[in-house]
Amino acid sequence: MYIEQQEILKHIAAKPFRIISEAADELGYEAYVIGGYVRDIFLRRPSKDIDIVAIGSGIELARLVAQKLGKGTSLSVFKTFGTAQVKSGDLELEFVGARKESYTHDSRKPIVENGTLEDDQNRRDFTINALALCLNKARYGELVDPFDGLADMDNLVIRTPLDPDITFSDDPLRMMRAVRFASQLGFYIDLDTFDAIERNKERIEIISKERIADELNKIILSPKPSVGFELLDRCGLLQLIFPELCALKGVETKEGIGHKDNFAHTLMVLDRLSKTTDNLWLRWSALLHDIAKPATKRFDNRLGWTFHNHNFIGEKMIPGIFRRMKLPMNEKMKYVQKMVSLHMRPIALADEEVTDSAIRRLLFDAGDEIDDLMLLCEADITSKNPEKVRRFLNNFKLVRSKLAEIEEKDRVRNFQPPVSGEEIMEIFGLTPSRPVGVLKEAIKNAILDGEIPNEYEEARLFMLKRAEKMGLFPKS
Ligand code: ATP
Repeated sequence: MYIEQQEILKHIAAKPFRIISEAADELGYEAYVIGGYVRDIFLRRPSKDIDIVAIGSGIELARLVAQKLGKGTSLSVFKTFGTAQVKSGDLELEFVGARKESYTHDSRKPIVENGTLEDDQNRRDFTINALALCLNKARYGELVDPFDGLADMDNLVIRTPLDPDITFSDDPLRMMRAVRFASQLGFYIDLDTFDAIERNKERIEIISKERIADELNKIILSPKPSVGFELLDRCGLLQLIFPELCALKGVETKEGIGHKDNFAHTLMVLDRLSKTTDNLWLRWSALLHDIAKPATKRFDNRLGWTFHNHNFIGEKMIPGIFRRMKLPMNEKMKYVQKMVSLHMRPIALADEEVTDSAIRRLLFDAGDEIDDLMLLCEADITSKNPEKVRRFLNNFKLVRSKLAEIEEKDRVRNFQPPVSGEEIMEIFGLTPSRPVGVLKEAIKNAILDGEIPNEYEEARLFMLKRAEKMGLFPKS
């Protein structure tokens, strides 16, 4: 990976780097920028987090740097970890002393001692993450690349600096990181490194669910997430961390009729969707949209393979999956549930005649998420039959234009029934009871079906008539 020295210098030209240089020389330390920031200079990727390693006390260096930078600078010291953070403008600098690490079998928390730059580079996960740029004045901008990380960058290779069995067994999170970098950067995992992941996969059990979820999210947010999921599957990690997704794999044939491989289909949907959105939770929805297909699969002599209600069962499976994976059990999860439960609706609609009433109901159920739902549904069309794809996409165009038209006219997207339950109780002198619900539902349906407009007076008259049929009359 060739890059002009001038260009490297440009990335360490900002004032804080010059100040670090000065401060390190004063303290008699060597100081280096190391890790992701250096890697990203060569990959020409934007990068914000800057890691500085000092051959000496990282905290002392940070203190002096913060003092020299003066006003507008903040310093946070984390004594127990031996680290410090300096914020200056929009730069965030993490300082640490060079360290040597040794591991025990049951924890990814190492025993840490002071070390040399070489020790510090040895403890890095991949060759491309072990590059260091010297900041001392005499060697400003000199690259220290002991494992030929630059060649690996040229060849798009993820490789551990030391024996991969030791690297992964020491800290099994690195296995997830290898897959994540491959997916994020479009790199290949070196064969020996990959084999070691396969051998050490069971070690993932000592990693916290939160850390695994973090890496999964980064895989999902990568340009082509299927790269990451296929790697996770091939090395056996996927079965351990996400068995529901593995269960989608495979094709069964009965009486000469097969169904599609739902794992391959899911990844195709996720990749297609990822071209149109960076919304993490919409991408999760794509990953989970067919998650209940294995649980609902049946063979029917007349219909062939069916997956009845897989959208609703899928919606119900999501809290269990989110809880186990320590994903947020909040409105993000509810959003994914909603997407999964509704993911067939626009397709079903596009398949038939597109009536105003069906469009209103879809708008009512999807609310503000309607545009996201349409993106998911379009991504879900992965048929190999070009005629079918064209028909669906054309009908979708019609659905979209009808959606816009009806929304403009009826404003049902965030529809609130114009007559409230409170008011119904008040008018008829009812306590909370079934008839109140029946009347509310009748008003909602009348509006969604276009029988009455979405307006208060019309809704009230409609309700009085309907109540009369139920033998209910206003109080006075
Ligand atoms: P990103 O910012 O995309 O998460 P990164 O590699 O740029 O990835 P960090 O995860 O913050 O940033 O890591 C910074 C550096 O620390 C890495 O480049 C690597 O050198 C080292 N590192 C981070 N995690 C590990 C690990 N588990 N094992 C070994 N080295 C690690």
